[in-house]
Amino acid sequence: MLGLMQDWPLLASRIIDHAAANHGAREIVTRSVEGPIHRTNYASVRENALKVAKRLDAHGVRLGDRVATLAWNTWRHLELWYGIQGLGAICHTVNPRLFPEQIAWIMNHAESRLLFTDLTFLPLVEKLKPHLPHVEQVIVLTDAAHLPENGVGAVPYESWIGAVDADFRWPTFDENTAAGLCYTSGTTGDPKGVLYSHRSNALHALLACLPDSFALSCRDTALPVVPMFHANCWGLAHAGPMVGARLVLPGAKMDGASIFELLRDEKVTRTAAVPTVWLMLLQHLDKTGDRLDGLERVVIGGSAAPRAMIQAFRDRYGIEVVHAWGMTETSPLGTLCTLKPENAHLTGEAWLDVREKQGFTPFGVEIEITDDEGRARPHDGETFGRLKVRGPAIARGYFRLGDAVDGEGWFDTGDVATIDPLGYMQITDRSKDVIKSGGEWISSIELENIAVGHPDVAEAAVIGVRHPKWDERPLLVVVAKEGRTPTRDSLLAFFEGKVAKWWLPDDVVVVSEIPHTATGKIRKATLREQFRDYSFLG
Ligand code: ADP
Repeated sequence: MLGLMQDWPLLASRIIDHAAANHGAREIVTRSVEGPIHRTNYASVRENALKVAKRLDAHGVRLGDRVATLAWNTWRHLELWYGIQGLGAICHTVNPRLFPEQIAWIMNHAESRLLFTDLTFLPLVEKLKPHLPHVEQVIVLTDAAHLPENGVGAVPYESWIGAVDADFRWPTFDENTAAGLCYTSGTTGDPKGVLYSHRSNALHALLACLPDSFALSCRDTALPVVPMFHANCWGLAHAGPMVGARLVLPGAKMDGASIFELLRDEKVTRTAAVPTVWLMLLQHLDKTGDRLDGLERVVIGGSAAPRAMIQAFRDRYGIEVVHAWGMTETSPLGTLCTLKPENAHLTGEAWLDVREKQGFTPFGVEIEITDDEGRARPHDGETFGRLKVRGPAIARGYFRLGDAVDGEGWFDTGDVATIDPLGYMQITDRSKDVIKSGGEWISSIELENIAVGHPDVAEAAVIGVRHPKWDERPLLVVVAKEGRTPTRDSLLAFFEGKVAKWWLPDDVVVVSEIPHTATGKIRKATLREQFRDYSFLG
């Protein structure tokens, strides 16, 4: 229509151009894989990204081609991120923590043409290469001096980009073009690829910067401990340059002491990672008595942030935890937990009750909870339902698998949640794990959280077991603490007054071990299989 706004596609190249033009000297600090701290800035990252694009273009990489990275968070990975995306190719970040067979499966499914990797993973790549028929070249993110002899004809990144100058113009294309590809972990079935578009990334990065998200500005120093291969780096690889935040990248070291050193030495104000990382950091601080001055906000997600962790950050270190929920399919920020004016007065346990929730949606994310038939359930903070989500940065489907949303655009997350009258969402379960008893739902997580509070219990899992009358009933499976022998009666008595009577597990089994996934989550499917023929009648 005449007189409307300009057509200015929201491209990744525009983000790095903006950073270089407005915040060119802002530092990108990396604990390099080779060892020393490395310092560069946005202007230089842009220049090298242009070289990456020029080299890829000369190699014959075209719009929509996949280019893979198997790498830690470093400045070189950031250059690749923008070089690949800026050219219109797809930056396929591969998770090196997966089993080698899964990595090969994912690389072949994506048909990625080049593979950029860190020195750390060169031995793995040498083993995998014969099984990667689509990979035309391996490039190692180092210089010639550090690259060892290798059996895959790998070349050093610095020489590879050193062969060209930065005289290259970013191409312009539709903002709905794919920019990134990230596979879900695939705990059940094959991994599924989520394709982020330039538009979805730009909108997601904008919402990541908002005051109730990362609250990121050019005065901040952000440390994304969350890897770039984990769910789109939680938006930080786009949001940082978008606002000109100083970035600190941890390279290969994510233990408590290494993260602490970076937080302290580089005066980090914002950081983000899964609970395990913060558990290690808090243990380190406990041991050393070190303080964390200057750190203001820690975003925790990926799995539930324990109440004690949120409290420890606040009470001992004066740091605000923002509990967040999301998934690879949601770019990933779905909800974040900060206080609203309505609950800003809360203190003590009531304050923790709110902060422990996964939070409310920023603009651009809509959530709803429904029953199995798709009927909306009340937002009373008690009733739970299947969590559905939609928005411009939520996946419509999976790479090569087609659409996965319903007629109204809702994506079923596979999570079960409550939403309270103020809009705060709280995850109560995965939909595969919730126990369906007499048409009502029982949260296995809530029962487990209570069970681990029992003095004799080291670990607990609750699963639904077939029941002739109620369809399913909860079975509590526990591992005893060393030297303790929990009894059925004392365990069941422990639930009384804490949950409704009909939630009480029908039985208790003490086992020596509970099975876990590679990322430390309880393998409920295996447990269900193990207790498939369990009879409550004995
Ligand atoms: P990951 O690689 O972290 O497992 P996924 O996209 O596979 O990433 O996992 C997303 C799932 O992780 C969500 O569907 C949810 O079950 C769980 N999750 C993410 N954040 C939280 C959170 N804050 N609390 C509880 N569960 C969470």
